Order: sequence, then structure tokens, then C-alpha cells
Amino acid sequence: MKTDRKSGIVCSTRKGTVKTLPVLVLLAGSFLSFTGFFIVNKREQSKIRIEFLKESQNHTAALKKSINDKLQILDSIVHFYNSSVSVERDEFAMFVEPFLESVATEALGWAPRITDSQREGFEKKTAMEGLKGFRVFDLSEDQKPLAAVRRKEYLPIYYLSPESAITQRYGQILGFDLMSVPGRIGSLNYARDTAKPSISEKIPLLTSVDKFGFLVFLPVYKSGTPADTVEQRRKNLEGFVFGLLRIEQLIEESLKLISTRGVEIQLFDLDADNNKNFIYGYVPGQSSKSSISKKTAGDLWYSKFQHEETFAVADRTWLIKSCPTPALISLFRTAEPWGLLITGHILTVVCGAYLILTEKRTAAIEGLVHLRTKELHTELDQHKLTEQALRTSETQFRTLVENIPGAVYRCEVAPPWKTEHISNAIKDITGHPAADFIDGKILFGDLIIPSDCKLVEQTVSECIKNKTPLEIEYGIYHTDGSIRYVYERGAAIYNDQGKPIYLDGVIVDITDRRRNEEERERLIRAIESKNKELQSIVYVASHDLRSPLVNIMGFSDELEICCQELKDLLKNEILSDDDKMKIEVLLEDSIPQSLKFIGAGTNKINMLIEGLLQVSRAGSFRINIATTDMNEIIKNVIENVIFRARELGAEITVEDLPPCLADGPMVNQVFSNLIGNALKYLDPERKGHISITGKMEGDHCIYCVEDNGIGIPEKCIEKVFEIFHRINPSDREGGEGLGLTIVTRILDRLHGSISVESKLGQGSKFYVTLPKA
Ligand code: ADP
Repeated sequence: MKTDRKSGIVCSTRKGTVKTLPVLVLLAGSFLSFTGFFIVNKREQSKIRIEFLKESQNHTAALKKSINDKLQILDSIVHFYNSSVSVERDEFAMFVEPFLESVATEALGWAPRITDSQREGFEKKTAMEGLKGFRVFDLSEDQKPLAAVRRKEYLPIYYLSPESAITQRYGQILGFDLMSVPGRIGSLNYARDTAKPSISEKIPLLTSVDKFGFLVFLPVYKSGTPADTVEQRRKNLEGFVFGLLRIEQLIEESLKLISTRGVEIQLFDLDADNNKNFIYGYVPGQSSKSSISKKTAGDLWYSKFQHEETFAVADRTWLIKSCPTPALISLFRTAEPWGLLITGHILTVVCGAYLILTEKRTAAIEGLVHLRTKELHTELDQHKLTEQALRTSETQFRTLVENIPGAVYRCEVAPPWKTEHISNAIKDITGHPAADFIDGKILFGDLIIPSDCKLVEQTVSECIKNKTPLEIEYGIYHTDGSIRYVYERGAAIYNDQGKPIYLDGVIVDITDRRRNEEERERLIRAIESKNKELQSIVYVASHDLRSPLVNIMGFSDELEICCQELKDLLKNEILSDDDKMKIEVLLEDSIPQSLKFIGAGTNKINMLIEGLLQVSRAGSFRINIATTDMNEIIKNVIENVIFRARELGAEITVEDLPPCLADGPMVNQVFSNLIGNALKYLDPERKGHISITGKMEGDHCIYCVEDNGIGIPEKCIEKVFEIFHRINPSDREGGEGLGLTIVTRILDRLHGSISVESKLGQGSKFYVTLPKA
């Protein structure tokens, strides 16, 4: 196919194809039309053939019957002869008269067998009977009667009915020797020897030109003589009964027996010479049969349906040929085959024309398609280039995405927030492969730790609603069981109607940063606590240590004064009683009292210094962190306090505790202080109950020492961890307010922490957090 781009005309190189198909259709259509024509035609012909055959067979059967009827007549005459001693001329005439009513029977006669020796006597006797000039004669070549030549035997016609009519028509006939016709002798001998009828070949009838008939002979043997063998028959032959039958009438008579719609027939004598074998031709409805009778078998106009049948007529074999008349054929002929042929051809031509038009149109369309295809190819090439550029860009984008320190994602904005895309970095963050999120096996939202779920939900929905960027930090569960903290930044994508369809963003693992921040906060807290501790120590040093010092200084001054007073008093040589009393008061009251206060102050200072040392020691212990069996530690602690617990009537219960990473002796110290406090601050009014439990949470183990003691007032809760702080310094139970301070210091060093929940009058819960083993 070529396309002239300028003109836009499409030139088809498929011209051959364009022409071939319609030609093929025309040929096929024509072939089918002819096939249809032949099939329908053949069907009609076979109908005609069947019908025609039926009629032909009826014809033959009727003809056979007519001939048989005629032979029956001769048979009756034979019987008549056999049953009579002699048959006179009148008797014969009377007997055969009814048989002559049939127009097919021209004449019936009797020819006695006369030997040569009997001839003369026979001629005289017959002449005397009234037939003047009777003699046995032959016919000359010009058909003139001549006295019969001498021969061994004669078969002169003796009786003949209707005699006068025949004589009138044929001239002298009585005395004509049947044996004089050489061609007939064989037939007569056959009848004689077989005692069966025999017939002659076709003979002209003199009734009119072109009319034919044939003679039928039947032997009569002498009455009372045997005629069983050929010899006996030859010896005892008396003569022949014969009949002259009209062929035309015979056939017409036979046709009366059947109803016919139109069959032409031709009758042949197969035993006759070739040029004489045609007997008769019959065309229904034609008045003149003479012309037909001249026809030969080959002349039958519609020889296609010709039917032939041979049958025996006495000693001869006849052939009946028949063919249907146009009338019969037309009865079954329809316009169907021709209609089919013509219609088929018309349709074929229409189809061919349509195909040519369609092909032309198709060629034009193909041209357009070709043009468009070319354009499409160009577009495709451009598209490919664009696609390649896109792919390059996408690869770059992908590389970029994969190298971003976080997982880039796109998810739907409606529950269940199905992930459309997420980069492979998510595997490091969550432990789950990206495919699990994309396939919907895992929903990212399910990984968010429960405490952050609400926050995430709220933040995301607000950002989508307000069309603001999303920025949030939250915790998620990693497949290794740890909690990872992530920073998520993203934004919703909206469709043309402003409806949010996707949420695009990036999730970055900030666990390390979080840990660092926590560590920093912990350190800050530790520094703050240290500061507080320092402040407390400064306070202790400046206040607590100062007050005993002031006391000591005051009482030292007091002692000095006392000493000066004593000196002044002792200057007097004589001590008055008053002086003596004063000295006594000084020595027994003022000085011991001052010394007592100085001692108390010193003790207090000592105690404070000792406490500070303990706290200091707790911060400088050499620690050895290892997996610590907490069940073992608590067991030891309880063993040390069990006596005291029994004294107080308190009950201590311990659950199975998870191991942690810590320094055993220091942890022992922590729980000794906590359990000691729990016992110390039980409510004497009720039975004490202390329970120690523990659980793992994330990276940590959380242990709880719970009591149902006096509890801590809310305002003092934070203060209990301060150095030397006692809620009730005058508590009957002694204490320096150092226990919890030491605990805090130890836990600081073990990367643990302590917190308290308490309700006054109900009890307290001290939570210790330590890294899990
Ligand atoms: P101490 O027990 O020597 O006074 P601590 O530092 O151990 O010093 O405790 C500080 C203060 O906290 C205590 O004086 C007490 O008032 C309060 N306290 C500690 N443990 C408990 C507890 N289990 N129940 C009630 N109060 C407590």
C-alpha cells in the first residue's frame, strides 16, 4: 500500500487481491448455483423417472395381457376343435364370431394339414362344398395367386372369419398355403413341435397403408391321438388355428386397461431382420400414428428417460421401448432449478459487486489505517523516548528514594490506610519487608505503639483536613520486639475535587536520636539531681552543719564565760558561800550543759558527715554490670528482714521476677532500702502486706515494691528522694533521710530509675526500672 502524502490518495498494492476475491465469489456462486440447479434438476428427473417407469411397466404389462387375451382366443378355438369330431365352416364362423368383436382381431382362421397326396382330393372336396375354383395356392412375387408348387405338406387357409370382409380386402385368400412363405415355416414348425403358440413377423395389413399386424398360430392335433412327444406331435398334427391381429388396435386396447399420463412407446420384434424389426410406435394424443410408426428407437425425443423391456410373445421376443412424453415431464418439471440457477447467479453478481465495493472501501480504509499507523509509529517512537526519559528519571528517583535515610511511602487516606508504595528502607525500621505492606499483609498503623496511636490519628486527620504538612514522632514495634521511634513527615495528595486520595511522606528512624535525647535528659536530670544534692549538701553544710556549729560556738563562749567566771571567783582567796554556790552551779550545771550541747552538736555534725560519706560512696562504688537474677537478690534481702517482718506481723509476697542487667550487690542495696522502708512505714493499725513484682517492658524491666503502709502526702512525693529529707523527722522510726537518696544514686549509675506512686493512708508503690538482661 502506498500513500501519496500530498494528495492523501491511498494506492493499494493489493489490486490482485481486490480482484481475486470477487472473482472467486463469482466462480463459487456460479458453481453453487449450477450445483443447486443440477441437484434440484436431478431430483425432478428422478421423480419423472420413477413415475415414467411405473407407467412404462404398466404399459408393458397391459400389452402382455392384451396379447395373452388374444392367445386365449386361439386356445379356445383349439379346444373347440379338440372337443368336436369335425368343425364345419359355419360352426367355425359361429364359434369365432364373438371374438371378432375386438377391433384388434382382424381375422381368425383354420388351416388344415394337407399332404401332397391329399391335395387333389382336398381341392375337389372343397370345390364341391361350394367354393368354386378352390385350390391350394402360393403368391407370386407380384402378389398374384399361383397354384401352389408341389411340396410334401400344405397348410392351406380353409376357414377364415370374417371371410367376406377379408376376401373383399385381400382378394382370394382361402387356399393360400401358409407354408408357401419361407420365413414362416420355422415358426409353424416350432408351434407344431412344442404345442405352443407361435407368431409371425410383422406383416402389412391391407386395411390401410402403414397398418401392420401379425399372425398367431396354434397347433391342433388329431383328436384322440397322443401329442406328448415331438414325434407324436409331428405325426398327429391336424392343422393350425390362426389369428391375424392388428398391432395398433392391440396396443390401443391394452392402453384402455391403464390410465396413462403420457408415455411414448415403440415396439420391436427382436427375432425379425434388422430392417423389419420395428413393429409399432405410439405417441399419446396423436391422431395419426402412421408417422410415428416409422420412427426408430433413436428418434425418441427424450431418450434420457428411455426404458427398454423385452418380453416373450409366443416364440418371438419383443422389445418395448418407452419414454415419457413432454406432458408427463411437464407434470413434474418446475421452475425451481432454473429459478435457483438464476437467483443464485443474481445473488452471486450482487455479492461480487458488493465485495468489489467493500474491497475498494477496505483498501481506502487500509490506506487511512496505514497512514494512521505511521503516525502512531512516530508517536510511539516519541512515546518510547519519553518513556526512556521517564525510566531514567524513575531510576534516579528510585535511587534517590532508596538512599533517603528513611522509608518513602504512599498510602491511601482512608482506613485501613493501605500502603500503595513504600521503599525498602522500611525493612530496617520495622523488620518487615516492603512487600508485606504493599501486599496488605501488614498495616503500618498496627505497628504504632498504643500510647501513640491516638496522637498519630489526630495529627494525620488534622493535617489532611487543614491541608497542612504532616510532622510527627511516635513509637512503633520492631519485629525484634524493641520499640523504634520514628519521625514522619508527609502531605496529603488531593484530586481535582479536593478530595484527599493519598498520603505521601517519609518515615525516618529516630530511635538513636531519641535514645540520645533520653540519655541527655537523663543526664540533665542526673545533673539536676546532683545539683539538688549539692544544694542539699550546701544546705546541710550551710544550715544543718551550721546550727550545731553555732551551738558549739555558743556553748564554747558559754564555757569561756564560765571559765572566766571561775577564774574571777578563784582570784578571791576566800571563797564565799555564794561564790562556792556559783562555782558549783558552773561546774555542775552550766559547764556540763554546755559540754552536752557541744557534744550533741558534734554528733550531729558527725552524723551528717557520715551520711554525706555514704551518699558519696554510693556514687563512687566500683560497679560490675552483669545479668542479675532478681529472684535470688530479693530472696537474700527478705532473709535479712524476715525477722523484723515477723515481729511486725507483716506478710511479704514475691512474684517471679525477670532478670536484669545490673550490679548484684548494688541492686541488693536498692531493694534492701526499699523493702526496709516498706516495713518501716507500715501502718500499725492494720496487717502489713508487702509485695514485690516485676515485668519486662521494651528494653527495660520494671520492678515494683508495694506496701499498704502509711503512704506519702502528695506534696512530699518528689521530696522523699532528696538527701536527708524525712517527711516526719520526729518519726518514732529512726532514719537519716538518706535511704532513697542512696537508691537514686545507685540507680543512676546502673542506668536505671526510680519513681513512686503513693496515697496517704493507703500505701506506696516504688517502681525501679533497670535495663533488661
Ligand atoms: P529514712 O527512711 O531514713 O527517713 P529515706 O530516704 O529512706 O530516709 O526516706 C525518706 C522519707 O521518705 C522517709 O523519712 C519517709 O518519710 C518517706 N518514706 C520512705 N519510704 C516510705 C514508705 N514506704 N512509706 C511511707 N513513707 C516513706
